[in-house]
Amino acid sequence: MKKQKPVVQVQDIRKVYQMGREQVVALKRINLDIYRGEICCIFGTSGSGKSTLLNQLAGMEKPTRGKVLIKGSCISQMSEEQLAVFRQRYLGFIFQSYNLLPTMTAVENVALPLMFRGEKLREREQAAIEMLKKVGLGHRLFHYPGQMSGGQQQRVGIARAFVTRPEVIFADEPTGNLDTKTTEEIMAMITHFSRTQGQTVVLVTHDPEMSRYGDRIIRLVDGAIIQNELQEKKGEKR
Ligand code: ADP
Ligand code: MG
Repeated sequence: MKKQKPVVQVQDIRKVYQMGREQVVALKRINLDIYRGEICCIFGTSGSGKSTLLNQLAGMEKPTRGKVLIKGSCISQMSEEQLAVFRQRYLGFIFQSYNLLPTMTAVENVALPLMFRGEKLREREQAAIEMLKKVGLGHRLFHYPGQMSGGQQQRVGIARAFVTRPEVIFADEPTGNLDTKTTEEIMAMITHFSRTQGQTVVLVTHDPEMSRYGDRIIRLVDGAIIQNELQEKKGEKR
């Protein structure tokens, strides 16, 4: 099989935060390629630089040095306007604390990213309802975030991230606030969407248990990658 071009390319990035007169080196010299359809799990203890790395990959922050390319476009050199358009078009996000809008129903929350894409109201709502059914929330369509459990809110978060069919989905500790059983359900959904829609997922976690969901396992220690391995899944054809 011919090797494809990576969807996400990280070239020699370094991130230094200036804290008054002190410098905090959060990422040392990171190189990383992630391919289409991969679920890439980034592990590390608290403070190892996981969120910092994800923020550079997703274009939330600019690296001090080096480049991040997504689909061949250098996002670390884009203007804020270019980045906003690029994010809406190609990227999806799942957050530890769900980040749903509290005054909007489940349907409205999921339909929101489609509005930025210029789809009509009826189409947006229809697509949101379809997605919510897929994540098992067909009976909670008009609930507000405050009326749902954490697991249900994260399902809404997943529906919102995947509804636009983004090329790459970034998730920072998506199950960090959930119990073991709910974590398994949420990870099963993320894996299912990634497999059936060929989407790339980059997921950050401190929980070693999550390694079984990853195709590519990255380990960070003190802002440096100490492991980058593809793992074979037992009994799974890719
Ligand atoms: P993790 O997500 O693995 O827990 P982070 O990426 O949040 O780790 O942090 C990595 C290191 O960078 C830590 O030492 C943290 O204190 C530092 N850091 C992160 N964000 C900032 C910031 N905005 N300003 C200064 N230091 C920061
Ligand atoms: Mg973090």
